[in-house]
Amino acid sequence: MSKPRLDGKVAIVTGGASGIGEAAARLFASSGATVVIADVQDALGEAVAASVGPRCAYARCDVTDEAQVEATVARAVAAHGRLDVMLSNAGVLLPTGSVMDMDLAELDRVMAVNFRGAAACVKHAARAMASGGGAIVCTASVASLQGGFGPASYTASKHALLGLVRAAAGELGRHGVRVNCVSPGGVATPLSCALMGVGPRELEAMTVPHNVLQGKVLRAEDVAEAALFLASDQAAFISGHNLVVDGATTAVNPAVL
Ligand code: NAD
Repeated sequence: MSKPRLDGKVAIVTGGASGIGEAAARLFASSGATVVIADVQDALGEAVAASVGPRCAYARCDVTDEAQVEATVARAVAAHGRLDVMLSNAGVLLPTGSVMDMDLAELDRVMAVNFRGAAACVKHAARAMASGGGAIVCTASVASLQGGFGPASYTASKHALLGLVRAAAGELGRHGVRVNCVSPGGVATPLSCALMGVGPRELEAMTVPHNVLQGKVLRAEDVAEAALFLASDQAAFISGHNLVVDGATTAVNPAVL
């Protein structure tokens, strides 16, 4: 099978200034797409876009503000004539505490980015794609399937996101718009390192002994490859799917390992 390509396609990657989104922006651009990185880290986003090359630009877009999402989509369409791919990837993981001590204001902040922000991206991407079709991919998490991969607020936000993706896939198919999730296991990025209070190499060293694929480490680039496949025409009949990229962590009963 040939490698998935995005030649001639226009893509927005939210949260593209860092981690998984940055890896996806680089891979999408090297696979032929024109890429708009949408993030709130302006200096980092500008620097990543510049290093990706002339077919990549940065746009400030706080996904918790629907007007900014709408404007970012509109500007991409005005500049490039179309929108083919939305990777709704921006996410946060906040220490909201155990359920009995949960900080509900923090819960609102998590939901505002991970769920409501993604909903705004799905909505406005779908509107832009409704006449010509397209592919929406949302970065969920293994936390969309099970508890225990972070605070309850994070788990709830990713379960809600998966529900949104499935509902949107059902509604948008008639417009030629596919909607899928990619659900990574643990990747050493600023988000996961902040949660564990360690650096990337230390975090990888902590996870390796527990990986089902022994000796292997999940990297942002592996998740980007899965997102590229779902965004590409090679996934033309795949919609409403949750592509789990966790080396079998959620597939296997840990008691048998
Ligand atoms: P990261 O912190 O490296 O990147 C997240 C990016 O999202 C950052 O650039 C940040 O500025 C941006 N962002 C945050 N709030 C935003 C907002 N309101 N508007 C626009 N951009 C915003 O983290 P990452 O690990 O690359 O996370 C990317 C996605 O992957 C998230 O949705 C996360 O939940 C998911 N994920 C991560 C892991 C992991 O282990 N790292 C595992 C599963 C899922």
